[in-house]
Amino acid sequence: MIVFDLKCYGYGHVFEGWFGSSADYEKQRAGGMIACPMCGDTQVRKAVMSPAVSPKSNQKQAQRPVKANLPAPVPVEERGVTVSNAPSSAEMEKMRSIINTLAQVQARVLEKSEWVGRAFADRARAMHYGEEPHKQIHGEVASGEARALIEEGVEVAPLPLPVVPPEIQN
Ligand SMILES: [Zn+2]
Repeated sequence: MIVFDLKCYGYGHVFEGWFGSSADYEKQRAGGMIACPMCGDTQVRKAVMSPAVSPKSNQKQAQRPVKANLPAPVPVEERGVTVSNAPSSAEMEKMRSIINTLAQVQARVLEKSEWVGRAFADRARAMHYGEEPHKQIHGEVASGEARALIEEGVEVAPLPLPVVPPEIQN
């Protein structure tokens, strides 16, 4: 048995392959029987050994396959703001228009709601336990506090978009 470090052409994943002999490896590779365990690519080559040993007629098969679906751009976390490097695509335009619609709907929902800021948890509890007449409020809570409210049975729903507190709007 011999072990080769193999590499797929598509993504360059490195993995180990065990073979009876070097000829066995070549036979399996030519037959497309070796697949990358990460992506299933059957176009593989030895990762560490010299590519000069690639024998005879395999040159044509060594062409890099064209990937039709490139992985989506990975959002970059920077100072808490999620950004994308694809700001002008049609998909981004669609997303922007969805967010605009969402913002309008949220504004309508909050029209009759009172901003109570950090007092939200206390006010929501007071209403839940009947100490205060029920009315619609919105404000800020820590995520742990939100969980505690939900566990107590207080009706709380996260708003889809952040709300700028009225006191810093002007
Ligand atoms: Zn792979």
